[in-house]
Amino acid sequence: MTDYRAPITDMRFTLEHVAGLETLRTLARFAHVDDELLAGVFDEAGRFFAEVIAPLARVGDTIGSVHNADGTVTTPPGYREAYRRFVDAGWPAAGFPEEVGGGGLPWGVASALQEMIIAADMGFSLCPMLTYGTVDLLSLHGSDEQKATYLDKLVTSEWSGTMVLTESQAGSDVGALTTKAVPAEDGTYRITGTKIFITWGDHDLTENIIHIVLARTPNAPAGTKGISCFIVPKYLVQPDGSLGERNDVTCVSIEHKVGIHSSPTCVLSFGDAGDGAVGYLIGEENQGMRYMFTMMNEARLSVGTEGLAVSERAFQQAAAYALERKQGRTVGGERGEQALIIRHPDVRRMLMLMRANIAAMRGVLYRTALAIDLARHLDDEERRSEEEELAAILTPISKAWASDLGIELTSLGIQIHGGSGYIEETGAAQWWRDSRIAAIYEGTNGMMAQDLAMRRIPLGGGMAMRRLFEMVLGDAASLEGDLKPIADRLTAAAEAAAEVAMTFGQWLLEGRYDDVLAGATPFLKMMGDTLGGWMLARGARAAMTEPRGYDPAFLADRIALASFYAEHVLPTVMGRKASCLAGAEGVFAIDEARFI
Ligand SMILES: Cc1cc2nc3c(=O)[nH]c(=O)nc-3n(C[C@H](O)[C@H](O)[C@H](O)COP(=O)(O)OP(=O)(O)OC[C@H]3O[C@@H](n4cnc5c(N)ncnc54)[C@H](O)[C@@H]3O)c2cc1C
Repeated sequence: MTDYRAPITDMRFTLEHVAGLETLRTLARFAHVDDELLAGVFDEAGRFFAEVIAPLARVGDTIGSVHNADGTVTTPPGYREAYRRFVDAGWPAAGFPEEVGGGGLPWGVASALQEMIIAADMGFSLCPMLTYGTVDLLSLHGSDEQKATYLDKLVTSEWSGTMVLTESQAGSDVGALTTKAVPAEDGTYRITGTKIFITWGDHDLTENIIHIVLARTPNAPAGTKGISCFIVPKYLVQPDGSLGERNDVTCVSIEHKVGIHSSPTCVLSFGDAGDGAVGYLIGEENQGMRYMFTMMNEARLSVGTEGLAVSERAFQQAAAYALERKQGRTVGGERGEQALIIRHPDVRRMLMLMRANIAAMRGVLYRTALAIDLARHLDDEERRSEEEELAAILTPISKAWASDLGIELTSLGIQIHGGSGYIEETGAAQWWRDSRIAAIYEGTNGMMAQDLAMRRIPLGGGMAMRRLFEMVLGDAASLEGDLKPIADRLTAAAEAAAEVAMTFGQWLLEGRYDDVLAGATPFLKMMGDTLGGWMLARGARAAMTEPRGYDPAFLADRIALASFYAEHVLPTVMGRKASCLAGAEGVFAIDEARFI
């Protein structure tokens, strides 16, 4: 396994010249995010995550977290020390608003830091990632008392947080959950039930764990309308802030998984010992799903970032291998001399596919993060709502397109290694195994495609989607000279995707839901690939202007990546149109009884 190097130059270029950090810098609250600050933060973070966290990935994979006979969970060797250093260095708080004690960086910049920690060790990164979600939810919906009790320690990651939704009968269908919350006389609730698949549900990295649990109060309406949201701390917190009694929540077991072995995926039981774990209601009863949804954009974007980050790690390893392994001769090359495999066109094609797609993903994900920031903080109401709609469209694409690409690109990383890639000792397979989950949790990619097709196409009467295509086509039209071939392919891809979006919009009006749903996944892929091409084209255009502070060789690479993507990826977008528009008939053509 190679070391990890944070791709700082590409991250900065993408933020500043592709995704549009400039707009954010015009806002007073982010005026401090200048070049100097960005360079300092990225350098320091890159060093920290490469030196302190990245070496954990291997031990995390091979040893993993362990569930002990006494019910406790022990993390792999080195994790406790690294986590302490992570907290002491202040990294967890960097992306939170100053109002809650954070570093005040925009989400766009925090996304790049998140990319670094995930690439360093995805299993490790999930603990702080879940804590971020807990902070978001509590700062938006918690009472003043709840904020005073929990937020400080969560912002610094001295305590960790979890998101506790899933039950065996309630996965994608969260509304089917049955965990009970019964009001107690003191105003708290007693929680009973069993939850499964809870990430970092128990561990030894922090002295307390704050579970955010979805449950039903007595007589709550059926489905998602009857779900409430509770704080259930592992240890109850005393009025003076010290830890009191152990709450009645136990880790029954942890799952044996394909990847992310260091992240304990727990079965949690609430109320085994008595009449229930003590829970504190967040906001109002039956509003739990609404509260969860307010932090969904960030959570889904974080999972998309897993696809990007793990691909980057796999790429670095594959590229290093291709520059060292000799095998065969290049066609027409000297007889008898073995060539580096990077000189074979097919290997080079795979490396270019990895690198171009990684740059494309980085652009789309950072743009999504900036849209979330702008939707929160722009002064102009109309512009704010436009960015909110843009974030709503980009989020399911970022989550599903990038996590699917993560699996594809990490698989290419194995392929570049040949047989050695399939041998665990090399470490190339870990990235593929780790990335596999991202397409499943935080809403499966099938659910993301459904969300995009059914809810995002009609957003604002179709105007939000139209605005997005206008931006893509406008940027394509601005490309000149050597970039014209990129413009032509980007335009063709965007027009094909727009045609499918318009047809789906019409089918939705006609009630042809199955026809839309049967084509939703290829449509999401069309959108992701087109937007990836858009971001690369913007990067190529910026590179032509030779912005200050960038090595000319780096800028030439960015133009080459955009051209490669336009030649090898964008033409596949048009090919998917027929499959999107084929309707549901073929999908249902064979009777279900004939599938066994
Ligand atoms: C490692 C790991 C970590 C996890 N961490 C957490 C966590 O921290 N907290 C938490 O609460 N949960 C967590 N989960 C649970 C995860 O979010 C669920 O597994 C996921 O939501 C899918 O639910 P399911 O497993 O029940 O699959 P199902 O919902 O049964 O889905 C099976 C298949 O059917 C498809 N499908 C289901 N319903 C529909 C529909 N309406 N339309 C179209 N297709 C559909 C799905 O796309 C999928 O392909 C985790 C899971 C894993 C494996």
